[in-house]
Amino acid sequence: MEVDSLFFDSFPSSETDEIRGTAGVILDKLGSKLDCKITFTGEAILPCDRCLEDVTIQISFQERLIVQLGEATNTEDDIWTLGPECHELDLSQPLFEWIHLHLPSRRLHEQDALCDSTVTKYLVGNPGNSSDSQGLSNEEGNDENDGIDPRWNALKDLK
Ligand SMILES: [Zn+2]
Repeated sequence: MEVDSLFFDSFPSSETDEIRGTAGVILDKLGSKLDCKITFTGEAILPCDRCLEDVTIQISFQERLIVQLGEATNTEDDIWTLGPECHELDLSQPLFEWIHLHLPSRRLHEQDALCDSTVTKYLVGNPGNSSDSQGLSNEEGNDENDGIDPRWNALKDLK
């Protein structure tokens, strides 16, 4: 199953539609039940927490869903029950939820240097920024103009 922005168009509440990937489903009979193993590999494009520029986040996970046949359809429980009217198994809703579950809570460029410097300059001295464990930045508390990005000087002139 291909997951792309078309797939996400059917879920208007999505945090992002910039998710692409491939989902694979392996079905195993487990007595009277169906054991669905779903693997997903792909990537999402989300705004970086630090500079708000797009950052590509790799996502891959494996999930499992047990499905049984029954009198009435119930897809709310951990084990799904499909009623007689169901002739196919639609995994798009759980897939959508899993993808969002597996999105990291912190989305950052791997290195400070990859962040948009015109934006991160504004963050100097921001406590949220200085707690960054990846902090390779030497900009905190540095109000001297040495080593300043020449593009920043150009921006100053725009004030
Ligand atoms: Zn960034």
